[in-house]
Amino acid sequence: MLIVNGNASKETKFNVGDEVYIAKSMELTLFCQRCLGAGYKRENSIPCECTECSGKGYKEITKWISLVNPAIIEDIRIKVNASDIQVKYKIRHYGKSLHRTEENLFRSLEEAEEFCESQNVITTEMNIDDIEVPECWLKTYPCAEKIDARMKELKTYGKFKNIIIVDKNNVILDGYTTYVLAKGLGFKTIEVIVKEN
Ligand SMILES: [Zn+2]
Repeated sequence: MLIVNGNASKETKFNVGDEVYIAKSMELTLFCQRCLGAGYKRENSIPCECTECSGKGYKEITKWISLVNPAIIEDIRIKVNASDIQVKYKIRHYGKSLHRTEENLFRSLEEAEEFCESQNVITTEMNIDDIEVPECWLKTYPCAEKIDARMKELKTYGKFKNIIIVDKNNVILDGYTTYVLAKGLGFKTIEVIVKEN
């Protein structure tokens, strides 16, 4: 629906009266899995600060959940800033009025769940030399197009969007191009996703 505010106008994703599903973030404190809460680990029997949690013994993470019951949109406003136009929704959920932005509202529960899943990926920093690469992969080299694409990503976002995935034995499962490029650029550590099974 088209919302007008002074000279500004914007076509919004939803209309007043639409049923929407909410994705919500929660801050959680988790025990550090690497040092089991100790804050340090022993390397050659010398205690070293745990790099995973910076010696704290725990990690703060943001977890996204989707609410099973939908809300109804009551009102839509647009807020005009110098650089962009923000859409603000007033929604009713279980008799309560809430204010939400467009990015956290979805047409279906499936869409909301998909969004939460993509946000809930937990990455960990790993020494690049600890990543095990299967013998057969080492014989191949990613094509120039792939390398170029990753390089562009790195320049644009300041980090790799295509994150390396390893299994719990540090064997690489995906993200070989990122690995090759990071290693070539002299990275000592890299962000990875550890797949539990
Ligand atoms: Zn730790």
